[in-house]
Amino acid sequence: MDIEEFRKRGYEAVDRICKYYKELDNHNVLPNVRPGYLKELLPKEAPEEPESFDAIQSDIETKIIPGVTHWQSPNFFAFYPANSSFPGILGDMYSDMFGCIGFNWITSPACTELETIVLDWVGKLIGLDKTFLSDGYGGGVIQGTASEATLVALIAARQRVIDKYKAEGLTEEQLHVISSRLIAYGSTQTHSCLKKSTMIANVRFRALSTDEKFSLRGDTIKREIEKDISQGLIPCFLNGTIGTTSSAAVDHISELADAIQGTDVWLHIDAAYAGSALVCPEYQHYLDGVDRADSFNFNMHKWLLTNFDTSCLWVKRRKLLISALTITPEFLKNPASESGLVLDYRDWQLPLGRRFRSLKIWFVLRTYGAKGLREHIRKSISLAKHFQNRLLSEYSDLFAISTEQAFSLVCFHVIPNVKSRKTSNELTEEVYNRVNETQKIYLTHTKLNDQFVIRFVVGSPWTAKEHVDRAFDLIVKITKEAISH
Ligand code: PLP
Repeated sequence: MDIEEFRKRGYEAVDRICKYYKELDNHNVLPNVRPGYLKELLPKEAPEEPESFDAIQSDIETKIIPGVTHWQSPNFFAFYPANSSFPGILGDMYSDMFGCIGFNWITSPACTELETIVLDWVGKLIGLDKTFLSDGYGGGVIQGTASEATLVALIAARQRVIDKYKAEGLTEEQLHVISSRLIAYGSTQTHSCLKKSTMIANVRFRALSTDEKFSLRGDTIKREIEKDISQGLIPCFLNGTIGTTSSAAVDHISELADAIQGTDVWLHIDAAYAGSALVCPEYQHYLDGVDRADSFNFNMHKWLLTNFDTSCLWVKRRKLLISALTITPEFLKNPASESGLVLDYRDWQLPLGRRFRSLKIWFVLRTYGAKGLREHIRKSISLAKHFQNRLLSEYSDLFAISTEQAFSLVCFHVIPNVKSRKTSNELTEEVYNRVNETQKIYLTHTKLNDQFVIRFVVGSPWTAKEHVDRAFDLIVKITKEAISH
């Protein structure tokens, strides 16, 4: 493909993207395909001869789109959102134009420097304590996902403890023993990425119980740490969550910070979804205590209008992250790095290579302004409130709220009536399955205590009141049918 053909195909692609978004509401959210559908449609081998781009474009229409789940649909109420936006798409196009891999400062100074700047901007926007910003000892970095952010924070925490014992003169053998005694904590509501991180880092893990609102409390962690220390374990990491995956609960961060005071425990805050809400001053009280954390993470690609993959991680002391992850073979040495005047983001992450992801953040921040971002968050939250109000005011005989609405998430379940032979769990699961079978909207579920719960999350910038009302009517219709059968 030469430049002129790229120009033609590029314009066509943008036209197609515009058509997609214009027609988004017409698509069912969930596709109607069977497992293995694509294998039946595509050849067994990559083509030997070049194919025309017309053929490729046509396959997008006939083979790919039928198998896509439409995450950007206004009728997508599942998981947490994964916002895409036009400035975000354009940011990725420019990133692809440069195709630079900014692992060291010199491999693309703009890539590194823009990342530092926009993460300071975002950090200030969400009210993060200034100790997390780059002009002190801290700083921010873009990770691919919250899972990677958690893993690198855990690795830095582990290294901090090992280095402490190393400084006391322990031998390699003794350090291996220390390593085997390390333990990390989260709650039963912490995202599974923490457990996965501990599996990868070979650190023990314990999930602690929460209070009745699914929040982790200081007393619980304090008790557990004391018990573990007395049994010879070495607590090294605690995950506090602002907006848990199941119910968007918020841990008592201040209490957690108090509980680990004077220990070697690294406090990491996972705000993957709810962190976006912190652009609104009325939610910044959730940051209470975060100034005493070691690291903080949220995904702009969830709910802040920035395309995947922009998971923003800030650390209080970048030196700890860097010393845990730096490895410098001969071929990566260069005068800029050795000058000590620059950041090399390869030392803040697992991979070496990295894309120019700060461009899309920069585009989004400038296109929407803080004002536009706040409007987006407030709109999602008020639509979720509208949904909850309708459930409670019109059908309190059919539905109960499982936990208080938090951010833009409503968790609810179905109440069986006296004649129903089905339990609440059976009915809720049946309603959930039957709603998703329509493919018109997409919901996901969780279990809170032993209750089967439907999660209704608003977050797409395309969702308007009419979509929430239509979803509500569909859920009510299916629930009435399920109850009467
Ligand atoms: N943490 C929380 C609170 C989440 O809700 C999620 C995903 O929804 C994650 C972590 C994992 O996110 P990622 O896919 O970016 O690893």
